Amino acid sequence: MKLTEIVEGIQTADSNYIVLTTEPENINSHDKVLVKHKICGYEYPVSFNKFLMGRRCPKCSGKIKGTTENFKKAVYNLVGNEYTVLGEYVNRETPIKMLHESGEIIEAKPYLFLKGMNRSKNDKSIIE
Ligand SMILES: [Zn+2]
Repeated sequence: MKLTEIVEGIQTADSNYIVLTTEPENINSHDKVLVKHKICGYEYPVSFNKFLMGRRCPKCSGKIKGTTENFKKAVYNLVGNEYTVLGEYVNRETPIKMLHESGEIIEAKPYLFLKGMNRSKNDKSIIE
């Protein structure tokens, strides 16, 4: 793909990051580019794929641990009150109990839930 597409894609995915890499013009989505986290100023290499999958500033992600509170916020931002988090967040891989507004209780892996809800609000097939 074109580097400009990656620059745009990263901006769209998270406006707190800018791409510093300016070449080559054509690049694979799994090739690393240098991005800068505007909030803290830290620069690190990451591939477009990994960035879209949620890889963020290593300096900040070390400090901001995944917590139930953060996960609740992320869920709320995505689906509003459609889902209520019932369980305690352990990590992105550990299924967490969530209540759907229909009364149905599901268990979803946090990262899959967030990823899936980004793609389509009604696609429940990603919930394991
Ligand atoms: Zn940072």
